[in-house]
Amino acid sequence: MEMENQRSSSVTIIHNATIVTMDSESRVFRDGGIVIDQDKIKAIGQSPDILAQFSAIAHHIIDLHRQFLLPGFINTHVHTSQQLARGIADDVDLMTWLHHRIWPYESNMTERDSYLSTLLCGIELIHSGVTCFAEAGGQHVSGMARAVEELGLRACLTQSTMDSGEGLPPSWANRTSDECIQSQKELYQKHHNTADGRIRVWLGIRQIMNSTDRLLHETRDTARELKTGIHMHVSEIAYENQVVMDTRKVEHGTVAYLEKIDFLQKNLLAAHTVWVNNTEIGFLSRAGVKVSHCPASAMRMLGFAPIKQMLDSGICVSLGTDGAPSNNRMSMVDEMYLASLINKGREVFANGATDPMALPSEIVLKMATINGAKTALWDDEIGSIEAGKKADLVVVNTNLWSMVPIHDCISSLVYCMRTENIVSVMCNGKWIMKDKKILNVDEEEVISRAKEASGELLKRAGISIPNRMNVL
Ligand SMILES: [Zn+2]
Repeated sequence: MEMENQRSSSVTIIHNATIVTMDSESRVFRDGGIVIDQDKIKAIGQSPDILAQFSAIAHHIIDLHRQFLLPGFINTHVHTSQQLARGIADDVDLMTWLHHRIWPYESNMTERDSYLSTLLCGIELIHSGVTCFAEAGGQHVSGMARAVEELGLRACLTQSTMDSGEGLPPSWANRTSDECIQSQKELYQKHHNTADGRIRVWLGIRQIMNSTDRLLHETRDTARELKTGIHMHVSEIAYENQVVMDTRKVEHGTVAYLEKIDFLQKNLLAAHTVWVNNTEIGFLSRAGVKVSHCPASAMRMLGFAPIKQMLDSGICVSLGTDGAPSNNRMSMVDEMYLASLINKGREVFANGATDPMALPSEIVLKMATINGAKTALWDDEIGSIEAGKKADLVVVNTNLWSMVPIHDCISSLVYCMRTENIVSVMCNGKWIMKDKKILNVDEEEVISRAKEASGELLKRAGISIPNRMNVL
């Protein structure tokens, strides 16, 4: 009896909501309700049925007044370590970006910098409705993990991993493949499945030009052994493919090479994959590789990935923001809007005309939710609002100037919604933002500490940003 009471005290009903479930039947409830028991969704249905069946055991009953309820967004490529570097590499060429700004910045980071950077990034992610992210591979996973635990988010954390390459900062230049694997195994032992199961640790490959074959093979085998994922930047720029063709003797580029060495597999998260041909799209599809499309950074730095073709070939494509120095907005709401627009426009290259029907809103919403969950290898627990899944939820206030009137609720979420429409976010059954207030950390304090740490870090790294106008 006592157990029964204890359990019922944590039951919450959310009702009178427009629920976009993103389940396999694409159900949308105009007047829906859900029951949350601790960290999980216990039931979903029409509001009157949910109230009739569960009111007696509910501790909290929340009326959403027809605001929208969605599954939490999943950002599948974000450099949380780079948040303190926002604005240090705007409008510069790619080599300046990497060698003179990002590498000096990252190689001078302390664990505290990573912690503050991840806190700041996490705050921005939560404001845009993100409940889970896949870290792209950064510095000081322990700092990231501490921030994720405090923020209440869910994440797949990855260390930036390289064992070769030209022009690396001195502190990175001497890492052997064995050291790379060993340190990641240690991070896995220390952090995997911590923070009530919200943190998972993945393996990382920064990119092929910084990886020996030995590192690639060991990473693949270690990921199999640990049953975890691999996060890697793949075919980002044409130059990368050229280097791979020249040095590794394959027909096209990175994907062709990864296929040749049997690296492509279901647990590989390939970020960007901009410069891939049809044969390579076939390789990715057959192997079940997941792709993270980052529209803003693609437009700024890399090029237009053939996303429509990848989706048509059955590849699971999701969305990522990339890092603050290449986007510079960490909003999944903006990425949804951009993904839809740039892939309609990209068809000019394929067909000579734009295709207004390419990447329709329902597909873009899938990319931000259930496809994100599949990409993060976590779709058994997140990515849709279904009984039995974790309660990772976003409340959207549609009754603002940006979204009124609504005649097509799904397209409104992609074409009209702004980050400002996101009001509350729940992760693992707990509110982490309510009425736009971040609950677990002091937002203003993080902002002031992050500003200070960023200034000191740039000084330490010897990075100075030239004035571009007549600054007096
Ligand atoms: Zn990246």
